[in-house]
Amino acid sequence: MITTRFAPSPTGRLHVGNIRTALHNWMLARRSGGTFILRIDDTDAERSREDYVDAIRADLDWLGIAWDSEERQSARFDRYETAFAALKAAGRIYPCYESAQELDVKRKIALGRGLPPIYDRAALKLTEAERAAKEAEVIAPHWRFLLDHAEPIVWDDGIRGPQKFDAAQLSDPVIRRADGSWLYMMPSAVDDIDMGVTQVLRGEDHVSNTAVQIQIFTALFAAKFAATEGATKMLPAFAHEALLVGREGKLSKRLGSLGCDAFRERGIEPEAILSLLARLGTSEPVEPIVDRARLIESFDLATFGRAPAKFDEEDLNRLNAGIVHQLPFSAVATRLPPGMDEAGWHVIRPNLAHVGEAESWWRLVTGPIAQPSFADEDKAFLAEAARLLAWGDNPWGALTNALKDATGRKGKPLFLPLRQALTGMDHGPDMGELLPLIGEAEARARLEQAAG
Ligand code: GLU
Repeated sequence: MITTRFAPSPTGRLHVGNIRTALHNWMLARRSGGTFILRIDDTDAERSREDYVDAIRADLDWLGIAWDSEERQSARFDRYETAFAALKAAGRIYPCYESAQELDVKRKIALGRGLPPIYDRAALKLTEAERAAKEAEVIAPHWRFLLDHAEPIVWDDGIRGPQKFDAAQLSDPVIRRADGSWLYMMPSAVDDIDMGVTQVLRGEDHVSNTAVQIQIFTALFAAKFAATEGATKMLPAFAHEALLVGREGKLSKRLGSLGCDAFRERGIEPEAILSLLARLGTSEPVEPIVDRARLIESFDLATFGRAPAKFDEEDLNRLNAGIVHQLPFSAVATRLPPGMDEAGWHVIRPNLAHVGEAESWWRLVTGPIAQPSFADEDKAFLAEAARLLAWGDNPWGALTNALKDATGRKGKPLFLPLRQALTGMDHGPDMGELLPLIGEAEARARLEQAAG
């Protein structure tokens, strides 16, 4: 059984990158009938906000990404306390007393010497007396997880293939601040264990976190921590997606602020966003697909490439049009202009880039329309059209055939003045479908008016 999770920090709105991660985890779970958890990573009380939590839920709702259960890190502090105690008892957590400034100086010195800024474990080398002196100064310690340098950290990444890290090249991560608050690294591993998460799918920016977390998982298992019901004793499978970049190929600020509100305002349908984000960066073609089951079926980590996935807003607009052309009336009914029924939607739909444009096209049916002025020759032709207009199964076919016979016109000279007189436009919906909606009386009135 597969269990995935999407774990946003409620310190801002969701952006395309988060939406992509949410979508992929959702599809991964749905494809196998598994469970998809929404986990709110709100250990940072200062930066987390309840309105962002609400906005995350609302955005996922709008996108149609439904979660099976919701978890909150802020409700799980007792579990982190237990895990912390277990790791501490196992000698895998140690107190540190450096101030932020001291650490910064150390970092700069290392960088200045051309060395990676890895924490030097100075706190580990303190003698009992030195530690006692720090405590006497009432410096509250922060806490680091002691990485095991003995063995390389390896995993087979679902997207990147075999991965190997030398733990000595990583800093022992701070897992708890001096004020007792939790940093991301340990709670996330504790949650993945307790919630039986089987697949961790996230962005490439988490690759080195995974190396660290694999050791945290392993240390927790060794400390017999995983004792709750539903908890797993196995490492989840990890997969890291190449990051999303802008069209120009760079990480763009714009993407970081592009979210559901912006899409909604621009008339982008959730299905278009899903169609793009489901397949961007994979070997599957990006197509406008309304049927989510099709997207889910074709979702496969093996199709993911390692090159950054380029997000192009033009692709999104193109997909949106493709989606709108397929949307059933039931999906859009509440957003259509008054009086526009299913038949109307089907006639107008192929002309739309956004559902919001239906209103201006619907005016072709309800009127008033603005006709161009016609040359005398065309006026006579349109007067003839008004006379020949007859109502049956196919009034447009009947009218154009009768006019062809009566006037000898064909092609553009036959069709264009009619379209202009009936709609005020040079292009637009299929006239055979549109004319029945305009209705006989209104059509005749428009033709007569154009005839002058
Ligand atoms: N809250 C973390 C983030 O938003 C979660 C990362 C993870 O998936 O473990 O980056």
